[in-house]
Amino acid sequence: MFENIKFANPFSNLPSTFYTKQSWSSFDQPFLLHFNHDLAKSLGIDDDPEELMQIFNGNKSFEKASPLAMVYGGHQFGNWVNQLGDGRGILFGQIDSSDGLIDLHIKGAGKTPYSRFGDGRAVIRSSVREHLCGEAMFGLGIPSSRSLMLFGSNEPVMREDTERGAMIVRTAKTHIRFGHFEYFHHNKITDGVKTLLDHVIDCYYPDTKQDSDKYLLFFDATVKKTAHMVSSWQSVGFNHGVMNTDNMSILGETFDYGPYAFMETYDPNYICNHTDSHGRYSFSNQPSIAEWNCYALASALIDLFSETELRDTLSKFNDYFYDSLIEKYRKKLGFISAQESDYDLILGLFEIMETEKLDYTNTFRELSKIISSSDNFKLSEKLSIWLTSYKDRLSKDKNSIEESKILMDENNPKYILRNYLAQSAIEDAEQGRAEKIDELAKVLSNPYVDLGESMEKYCQPAPKEQQNQQLSCSS
Ligand code: AMP
Ligand code: MG
Repeated sequence: MFENIKFANPFSNLPSTFYTKQSWSSFDQPFLLHFNHDLAKSLGIDDDPEELMQIFNGNKSFEKASPLAMVYGGHQFGNWVNQLGDGRGILFGQIDSSDGLIDLHIKGAGKTPYSRFGDGRAVIRSSVREHLCGEAMFGLGIPSSRSLMLFGSNEPVMREDTERGAMIVRTAKTHIRFGHFEYFHHNKITDGVKTLLDHVIDCYYPDTKQDSDKYLLFFDATVKKTAHMVSSWQSVGFNHGVMNTDNMSILGETFDYGPYAFMETYDPNYICNHTDSHGRYSFSNQPSIAEWNCYALASALIDLFSETELRDTLSKFNDYFYDSLIEKYRKKLGFISAQESDYDLILGLFEIMETEKLDYTNTFRELSKIISSSDNFKLSEKLSIWLTSYKDRLSKDKNSIEESKILMDENNPKYILRNYLAQSAIEDAEQGRAEKIDELAKVLSNPYVDLGESMEKYCQPAPKEQQNQQLSCSS
């Protein structure tokens, strides 16, 4: 029961320079589009969705909440922006769960002092996308914010066209971003950085509280979590699209879904964000941008460390990233040992996927069938040659082909959130029909398990003209 849940709301106990306490703007006639029962169960709040919607829409008061809009800054496309903040979101409260704090954040909640020129709203389209992607990432085992519920409204919201407003209730370990630290540093707000650091250590790294280098441990953990998060993105072909420092969680959870996309045919230069004309956030740039973002965070922490300490920690990013990435690819290929030649083998596969425009997800998924079946698969000459060296490499490991196959199927998803599938669910949701969201959410929460013939439609590549499209940033 939601009423019985313990709330701690530690962020609301920070000084008022960190936020504006305020309520939010409810919709007149909200309609529920999807309720995430799995997430609700894990939080112990699998209540009547309609009643919960009344609370999150703001029709019914809830005393344990401590709603506020956070202030932060950020580097957007490389440029420093002095003040951003929750322009259309409200931190409703922070649950004190047995797994630590869980933030409940309402996105699309109306204007705040940080809305700048925006209307404070989110539309059905972008909310469906964020709601589903949180589940897709969770299913894939990638740290991410999630969404407890999605509701729409008839409130007109102007984007390229007139759309309708929606809200999601987002859960995340934290909503503290790199840009929070940057805001206090760049605006020279006395003690802001240190106060926030102590808060973060209290809330998320309590075991290091007595440690003399607790601040450095925090920074190191952040660099590591960020590197690991991006290695997960690369391994499933996920392009975030807006890796501004205000969209980077300090706990390495994927966050703020905008014009993201799961790549269809393999293209390292894929840019999912239509407004990213220089490709700063292209698929292959993601690791170096994540590292760049860690540098931006380091600059904000400069008063607390020596430059050498920061540089030494930053220099670990590459190892954190590549160690994690190669481990993921070895599993995707069914290897249990590590061999130097694995790098070349993987690069060889990428080259073929790129020139032959192969579907990234399905190519990996099919490999386990190819190695474990006696059927003849129609393969290009290059792929057949590659397969010979691959099988040769597989034979050097002690595990059987059957064991490799299991490992591969556990690490190569069958179902990803392809844009055309999301789009089809959005078009229905805009007409008030939510069955597709429901079905997609189910499939995506279990992406490594073959759900059989009836779900085969969810692993088909997009029609050619809809492959690797760019998406509008408007949301
Ligand atoms: P994003 O690109 O979604 O991460 O947003 C960047 C900044 O713009 C954040 O401070 C958001 O809160 C703010 N923002 C985005 N959309 C809106 C909107 N419709 N109304 C008000 N603020 C917004
Ligand atoms: Mg954002």
